[in-house]
Amino acid sequence: MSKTYAVAAPPVVTVPVRGSTAVFPVHRIYCVGRNYAAHAIEMGHDPNKEPPFFFQKNPDNLALDGTFPYPPKSSNVHHEIEMVVALGKGGKDIPADKAMDCVFGYGVGIDMTRRDLQDECKKLQRPWEIGKAFEHSAPMGDIVPASQIGHPTKGAVWLKINGEFKQQGDLNQMIWKVPEMISYLSGLFELFPGDLIMSGTPSGVGPVKRGDVLESFVEGVGPLTTKVV
Ligand code: MN
Repeated sequence: MSKTYAVAAPPVVTVPVRGSTAVFPVHRIYCVGRNYAAHAIEMGHDPNKEPPFFFQKNPDNLALDGTFPYPPKSSNVHHEIEMVVALGKGGKDIPADKAMDCVFGYGVGIDMTRRDLQDECKKLQRPWEIGKAFEHSAPMGDIVPASQIGHPTKGAVWLKINGEFKQQGDLNQMIWKVPEMISYLSGLFELFPGDLIMSGTPSGVGPVKRGDVLESFVEGVGPLTTKVV
């Protein structure tokens, strides 16, 4: 007997794969917090005392059409340019030296953050969802298969607003490298094909406003243009 749903079932969220007609189905979105020392310091933390950590966004928070609708209930929405790691395989307790076998490809994403609401959450020791996991909070470009570009470990990561540099870093500044983040995460959660990991942001985060054009770039992965509407 075929299954019928009591309410409308949500669609599978998919991201285009560069050079392919196949699309990447998204399972979960994990995000690494404070994975670049200069960003940890600009947020008032000591990266030597506090290691990076994880939080999550929802698959349907992805914004894939080149626009970012300014969200409600905030007057201080920040950009955080990040390399996104797309998993083709999952598992539990994956050793770091086997972790790269899990990587399908890479993308460019922005961890958009309602900073005022996040700051309030931090102050009250509450979870971060209202600051991080809201509609359209994860603009992202196409996924580029590692079979085409290899595994980027160094290279420029930057974000410009209206042509002006705001964030500039290098992938080699990540505190947790990609194999370490996969290994660590797989000890806490079972990872699956379709999981995305936003790998953290370099320093220079700041506010956006309606009408801004955000150009994001990760060397070897590509550009992403996002208009704030
Ligand atoms: Mn982030």
